[in-house]
Amino acid sequence: MDLLQHIRNVPDWPKEGIQFKDITTLCKAHAPFKEACDRIIDHFKNRGINKVVAIEARGYVFGGVIAYELGAGFVLIRKPGKLPYKTISESYQLEYGTDSIHMHIDAIEEGDKVLVFDDLLATGGTAKAACNLVEKSGGKVEGVAFVIELTGSLHGRDQLKGYEILSLVEIPVEE
Ligand code: AMP
Repeated sequence: MDLLQHIRNVPDWPKEGIQFKDITTLCKAHAPFKEACDRIIDHFKNRGINKVVAIEARGYVFGGVIAYELGAGFVLIRKPGKLPYKTISESYQLEYGTDSIHMHIDAIEEGDKVLVFDDLLATGGTAKAACNLVEKSGGKVEGVAFVIELTGSLHGRDQLKGYEILSLVEIPVEE
């Protein structure tokens, strides 16, 4: 199945110059949604992964399904001020300024084998920060998975050197 045809491109959203890749068109139909989840599950099954870490908010749509099917627990990484208990955080560069993501201090334990998931890889800053949070807590990143990878000038993979990366659909960034 060609998952790309189920992803909607929304030009100039949320601001001019951004080609937003909308995965709601992929999730709303059972077949492409199942195909995307199954391909990630099949790739990472039987690897002893016991936690799936996903990034707010679109990462949760697939992340919970993947965790359930892998027989793993599910960990939420969130934007500042959303998690109720004590957190650890990582900052990362945006085009202008920085942003940060947070995870509960006890979400990952020493020796956990972790799959990090987000819907899309762009510059890689968010996923790298998530990997740092896992490792700070003593977990081992077994792999990093995305539905979409933007290829070309963003060089997201360079940020994630040393990690196994799975992306289901590669979309070149228009210069
Ligand atoms: P980055 O940290 O640059 O790899 O950005 C990845 C995060 O930003 C993911 O959580 C994506 O959901 C979101 N994102 C970045 N660029 C896009 C885009 N063109 N379309 C949809 N989501 C995007």
